Amino acid sequence: MTLRYDLHCHSTYSDGLLKPTEVARRAGARGVDVLALTDHDETSGLAEARTAAKEAGVRLIDGAELSASWRDITLHVVALGIDPDCAALREGLETIRAGRTHRAQRMGEELGAAGIADAYAGAMKFVTSARLVSRTHFARFLVEAGHARDTRDCFRRYLVRGKPGYVAHEWATLTKAIGWIHAAGGQAVLAHPGRYEVHGKMRELLAEFRDTGGDAIEVVSGSHTPAQYTEFARYARVFGMLASSGSDFHGPGESWADLGDMPPLPAGVTPVWKDW
Ligand code: AMP
Ligand code: MN
Ligand code: MN
Ligand code: MN
Repeated sequence: MTLRYDLHCHSTYSDGLLKPTEVARRAGARGVDVLALTDHDETSGLAEARTAAKEAGVRLIDGAELSASWRDITLHVVALGIDPDCAALREGLETIRAGRTHRAQRMGEELGAAGIADAYAGAMKFVTSARLVSRTHFARFLVEAGHARDTRDCFRRYLVRGKPGYVAHEWATLTKAIGWIHAAGGQAVLAHPGRYEVHGKMRELLAEFRDTGGDAIEVVSGSHTPAQYTEFARYARVFGMLASSGSDFHGPGESWADLGDMPPLPAGVTPVWKDW
C-alpha cells in the first residue's frame, strides 16, 4: 500500500486556524498516513499533535517552517524530522520570532500612515500564540475591519512588496537556517519554490540552496499548479535533490489545499521520505 504524506501544515501555534490536536485528527480523517506539523518558526505545537496523531493512527513527523532571507527575497525552509529540543535550533527559532514582533510593530506604523489606525493592536487580537505574529494575523484583522474581501485580496492590496503595509525584513540567513535544521538532525526542504519572485534566478537559488546543504525541494505544494509539479520535479532531478509534498494547510476555507489533498509525486523523483 502506498502511504499518503502531507509534510507541510500549520496550527494555532503559528498562523493556522486549528489547534494541533484538531490538525492531527483532521489529517487522520482525511486519510493522511504521515503528517508533518510545520508551524512558522515554532515547534511548541508538536507535543499536542503527537498525542492526537497517535490516537488517530497518523505518524507524526516533527517539523517547522523557517523564515530565511536570500538576497532580497524571503524564503521558507521546511524542516522535517528535527529534534525540537536541540538548543541551537531552539535559540535560532527564538531569534526569528523576535524579529517578527519588531516587524509587526513597523507594519502597524506603515498601515497607520496609510490611514488604517490601530492595525498592530488589531492584528494582535488574532494572534493565537503569544510567541508569534505573522502577516496572516494582519490580514485577518484587515478583512474584519472591512479593508479587504478576504485574506488573499488583503495580501494583494496591503501586505506584499510595494504595498502600504509591507515592511522588508532580514530573516535568518540560508546558512544559519539550514545549519540549525541539520544540528537538530532534520532535513531542509525548500518550501513552495513556485511562489518566489526570483525573476529568472531560480537556478541560482536552487544551486545555492543545495550547495548550502539543502536536502529537498517541495515539488508538490498546495500552492503549486500541476505545471509547477512537473517543473520542480525536473529541477529536483537536475539538481540531485529529494522531493517533498505538502498542502500548506492553514484552516478550512482559508487555504490553497486541505490536508492530504495533493496528488502523488511525479515519477522519476526520489521522495524525501525514502530512508524514513
Ligand atoms: P509572514 O511569515 O508573517 O511573512 O507571513 C507569511 C504567511 O502569509 C504565509 O505563510 C501564508 O500563510 C500567508 N500568505 C502569504 N501570501 C499569501 C497570499 N497571497 N494569500 C493568503 N495568504 C498568504
Ligand atoms: Mn502561514
Ligand atoms: Mn511558507
Ligand atoms: Mn507554510
